[in-house]
Amino acid sequence: MERNDKCFCGSGKKYKKCHSHINSESKIAEMYVYRDKYNKKVKDLGLLDLCNDNCSECCRDYFFITEFEFLLILDYLILNNKNLEDYIVMAKDSYNKINSRYSDIIQKLDENANGSNDLTYYMDNEDFIDLPSCIFLRDGVCEIYDVRPDVCRVYGTTIKCRKINNENVSIKEMDEMFAASEMLQYNNRIIKPRPYPIFYWLKYFLGDDFLKLKTFNKLKVILKESKYEYAKVYEILNI
Ligand code: SF4
Ligand code: SF4
Ligand SMILES: [Zn+2]
Repeated sequence: MERNDKCFCGSGKKYKKCHSHINSESKIAEMYVYRDKYNKKVKDLGLLDLCNDNCSECCRDYFFITEFEFLLILDYLILNNKNLEDYIVMAKDSYNKINSRYSDIIQKLDENANGSNDLTYYMDNEDFIDLPSCIFLRDGVCEIYDVRPDVCRVYGTTIKCRKINNENVSIKEMDEMFAASEMLQYNNRIIKPRPYPIFYWLKYFLGDDFLKLKTFNKLKVILKESKYEYAKVYEILNI
């Protein structure tokens, strides 16, 4: 992509004035492209802005986001000069609160983060009540709205939420968006890094000096290298 071309994110701005710090062939750029396609599709279908006024109920949900989604959020926080330490403190607080009510969830997350091969995640939120709200929810507003995870983009539009009596709609752009955020391809092999809840990414992968360094290295590579190069580095060097 040339500096004067329109940015891959769909903003309409020139690349040099928008996401020029991101390689337009990178995994992160690919996510922007598919999110933009999805956003435009739901807009065309009239599925935007369906949420009830002042509702943020789904921001108290328990859901998982992928490593690529987390790295994209991290890049956004850094670019916007946010104090990462503040979010890490909030994430630790969420971790402790959930641990006091549902210690089995935290135990399972910790086991997985430490390399356990038991991939049984608590993906179902049905039974969890009174969970702390998302660390990015401030006065009912999402602080990272532009880079919010895919699941936050589909909850009120294509997936039936508890407030909106919305039909499930099958949109191929939604499936493509999720695929772009969760997998890498290398030599015909699909790589799917493990997902974790938002608070857990911040608490665990930034809350420890060694893992923080590793995470920042990953961020540097995922922004600067093509998605193929990133996949190679991910697979071979296990960054
Ligand atoms: S990232 Fe934003 S939209 Fe998603 S749960 Fe958190 S506050 Fe809500
Ligand atoms: S998707 Fe549903 S639960 Fe979430 S904010 Fe919108 S109306 Fe509320
Ligand atoms: Zn852009």
